[in-house]
Amino acid sequence: MLNFDFQNPTRVLFGAGQIASLATLVPANARVLMLYGGGSIKTNGVHAEVTQALAGHTVIEFAGIEPNPSYETLTRAIELVKREKIDFLLAVGGGSVIDGTKFVAAAARYEGDAWDLIAKRIAIEDPLHFGTVLTLPATGSEMNAGGVVTRKATHEKRSFHNRRLFPQFSVLDPTKTFTLPARQIGNGVVDAFVHIVEQYLTYPVGAKVQDRFAEGLLLTLIEEGPKTLADPQDYDSRANMMWCATMALNGLIGAGVPSDWATHMVGHELTALYGLDHAQTLAVVLPGMLRVRKDAKRAKLLQYAARVWNLTEGDEDARIEAAIARTAQFFEQMGVPTTLTGYGLTADAIEPVIKALEEHRMTKLGEHRDVTLEVSRQALSLCV
Ligand code: NAP
Ligand code: FE
Repeated sequence: MLNFDFQNPTRVLFGAGQIASLATLVPANARVLMLYGGGSIKTNGVHAEVTQALAGHTVIEFAGIEPNPSYETLTRAIELVKREKIDFLLAVGGGSVIDGTKFVAAAARYEGDAWDLIAKRIAIEDPLHFGTVLTLPATGSEMNAGGVVTRKATHEKRSFHNRRLFPQFSVLDPTKTFTLPARQIGNGVVDAFVHIVEQYLTYPVGAKVQDRFAEGLLLTLIEEGPKTLADPQDYDSRANMMWCATMALNGLIGAGVPSDWATHMVGHELTALYGLDHAQTLAVVLPGMLRVRKDAKRAKLLQYAARVWNLTEGDEDARIEAAIARTAQFFEQMGVPTTLTGYGLTADAIEPVIKALEEHRMTKLGEHRDVTLEVSRQALSLCV
């Protein structure tokens, strides 16, 4: 096991009815900005419930944070925070709203161009405090300190991380996910699955606790994912899926192990260039990425094949190939296509991705920095 420094300060309030806790969680005398997306919270009652819980608080609203939140939109939120002297942020939505809120929280305490936080990797020491109400289990953003923001003008989708950007608290009420379209549930399961894989399918380092946790989460997603797709109101399935997605990326399974993230980095370029949903890009890239790197990841892929997919017969290469094929089948079962063709793209889509990776200096990805542009190209060529 590698050395690690693990701290996760986010308080989690989980379960039906927990939105009412906002009354005491949000500081009483704060000027609060509630940030949300395109309006799903207005139609499914979440907005009304949050507003009721915050009766007596001073709350201003910022609506319109889009999927893959844009720097352009967030800049308007930052101006509002400064103008209205906001001192607490409440994100109500999915990963996009939460990531956007993190960016606003940091940028509100920065006088220069907010993009510097990403481009110059400036880590603000005293970002605004914020909490979240999660409506879409997928990203883990509700219990981690990272985010991803897109600069539309330049087609750049870039991530940031700052250990001061953990939410103070997150409210996870599985009943609030009942209104999610099937596409977003499929996306959520795939995103959580790939988060786990990016931390688990790395060179074995004897981190047995992390491995068993990761395998438990993967098996739970495989069991519960199809159930929650088939019956959106099955509370227990939604609850298990929701907690899986949080646990997938809250630092616990990633402590003491190398992490990969090559699939995510290549996926970000696919979203920035062609507008695929985040999880759709991961479903396309992961199978090819595992196939081209199967020798470097051999021992761990065999462990994955045996413990997650119960594949113990046949020679090593056959077991590895079967495990990757089963992974892709699972994504397809969740309604998320796993080829570029599935999204109306052809092999012509690949070179612009490679060019963008080069421009963004994503030329040595993966846990061993051995995913060169050529490896990414080969991986994508297996994803057509
Ligand atoms: P999202 O972009 O936040 O939301 C997708 C869609 O789902 C939106 O149209 C939203 O509508 C709708 N929605 C949300 N909750 C709903 C509900 N309860 N009922 C009905 N519709 C609902 O999706 P996401 O997958 O959570 O976030 C994706 C973003 O997170 C990407 O930018 C990705 O790169 C990033 N990400 C971040 C991390 C991290 O660690 N921070 C990790 C992985 C990915 P409204 O807009 O109307 O609300
Ligand atoms: Fe992700």
